[in-house]
Amino acid sequence: MRFSKMYAKTLKETPKDAEVISHQLMLRSGMIKKLASGVYTYLPLGYKALKKVEKITREEMDRAGSQELFMPVLQPAELWKETGRWDAMGPEMMRLKDRHDRDFILGPTHEEVITDIIRNDISSYKSLPLSLYQIQTKFRDERRPRFGLMRGREFLMKDAYSFHANDESLDEEFENMKAAYTRVFERCGLKFRSVEADSGAIGGSGSQEFHVLAESGEDEIIYCNTCGYAANLEKAESVVKEEIVETKEELAEVELKDTPNVAKIDDVCEYFGIPASKTVKAITYMDTLSLKVYMVLQRGDYEINEVKLKNLVDETDLVMLSDADLVAHNLIKGYMGPYNVELGDIILVADESVTKMINHTAGGNKVDTHYVNVNYGRDYTAHIVGDVRSVRAGEGCPRCNEGELESARGIEAGHVFKLGKKYSESMGATYLDENGKTNIMTMGCYGIGVSRTMAAAIEQNNDENGIIWPMSIAPYLVDVIPANIKDADQLGLAEKLYAELNDKNIDTVIDDRKERPGFKFKDADLIGFPIKLIVGRGAKDGLVEVKIRKTNEAFEVKAEEVISFIEE
Ligand code: ATP
Ligand code: MG
Ligand code: MG
Ligand code: MG
Repeated sequence: MRFSKMYAKTLKETPKDAEVISHQLMLRSGMIKKLASGVYTYLPLGYKALKKVEKITREEMDRAGSQELFMPVLQPAELWKETGRWDAMGPEMMRLKDRHDRDFILGPTHEEVITDIIRNDISSYKSLPLSLYQIQTKFRDERRPRFGLMRGREFLMKDAYSFHANDESLDEEFENMKAAYTRVFERCGLKFRSVEADSGAIGGSGSQEFHVLAESGEDEIIYCNTCGYAANLEKAESVVKEEIVETKEELAEVELKDTPNVAKIDDVCEYFGIPASKTVKAITYMDTLSLKVYMVLQRGDYEINEVKLKNLVDETDLVMLSDADLVAHNLIKGYMGPYNVELGDIILVADESVTKMINHTAGGNKVDTHYVNVNYGRDYTAHIVGDVRSVRAGEGCPRCNEGELESARGIEAGHVFKLGKKYSESMGATYLDENGKTNIMTMGCYGIGVSRTMAAAIEQNNDENGIIWPMSIAPYLVDVIPANIKDADQLGLAEKLYAELNDKNIDTVIDDRKERPGFKFKDADLIGFPIKLIVGRGAKDGLVEVKIRKTNEAFEVKAEEVISFIEE
């Protein structure tokens, strides 16, 4: 690519409405252009980088045995009504009508569409497991679209879906996908961490997020310096605190005395004659789509009168979970983990009536829904009651009780979920097993924000001069800069090297503009080419300068050795 012809309108000034560095730098380097709030054009330079992230993602998904397909963005409302998400998704879903007044949406995700395909096509255990993916534009009418590509309303996602005959098979694929994600982010040259996560609106029992580490990240992640525990604080908080959750806006309106779950906890304690603060913990967590209240009665702390317990469950709106339930729902390892809940502990779950009241105080949520996209701290505050172990950096690890928690900021770039039977059940995706018996499939889903990952790469890799692209996703690897294009030696050698690099399929730009070298260096650093190849006075002796953007190292190299030098 010749710089003189390249569509890259660089800006000297930082655009006013761009808050984070990736947004500023992408605008300044001419990689993206805003069309509307949260809607961007990828200009040629930005599109090249995006395609590289996309290519790495595709290669790793293929390698992991997932097959690529391409589903429609436009989806009929009926499918979403089957799963209840037509209502649950709320205003985040882009809705429209066709000329016959039929409801459609622009897909924010594709569980419904893929499950519809599979329920019609697959009927035997012999076709399972099955993993399919696409790289597709998604639409989400985010409440606060911001930070450029980081939180767009139209963005590129890789989404994969897997279908299984049983949980073991899903567990295997979940591990397989985690490994694939690790390779994707490693190949993108990013520093990242995988953490336990809230399942959010998608639902399910096991869920992990992949966070690109960067100061500007919207999420706080905490991790133990001794064991492997790492979690999105958003999730960790909602698990370990007993809380009444309220949006900031509604905080003013809701009366705090309306706290039915607290009364319930106290009732339970009184009933058993145990001190509430010590032995009973109430937890709310996002179980699939609802907030549920769990009360943990820890065995060993006191005697539980079994007859009283049975009466309590019979007479109230509490349900008792068996050990098998805890294991089946992954509660011990997952949501209850930070509480050190063990098998044998008694877990009571408040049923719908309590959940309903709590959801009400949570700011108008309906049963089986919760705010999509709400982050603790950013969008709501929690009111803590009773004896709660909070999870904070600097404190002891709730998982191993040995290490200390540290914190970092992260950008959620990937998310893997065990969906279980949520969609297959509501949509009737079944298969016949070896004995000819009908069973419901078990599902997983796996997302990578391709466009967000590209932005996250910039958040993590930049300096005061501009972007520092990791080699693997840089739009161009090398910028050949003849210092003085009027000098025949310099221009000649620069053109020769440019041609050779192109022959080697190394993405290269030659800055053939009639500008001063300093001007060209500034643009090169802003755009973030990993390597500058400066052809200056040494040209007549066959010498060029190779400058590494990341380390600022400069090497004097013989022209004939440049290619092998760069290939290293
Ligand atoms: P967030 O918590 O940031 O709103 P999410 O949890 O709603 O993200 P998922 O439903 O898990 O997102 O989607 C999978 C991936 O898609 C995310 O991990 C993220 O990388 C990407 N993604 C989600 N929303 C956006 C968006 N508005 N703009 C760009 N990428 C997004
Ligand atoms: Mg999230
Ligand atoms: Mg979201
Ligand atoms: Mg997510």
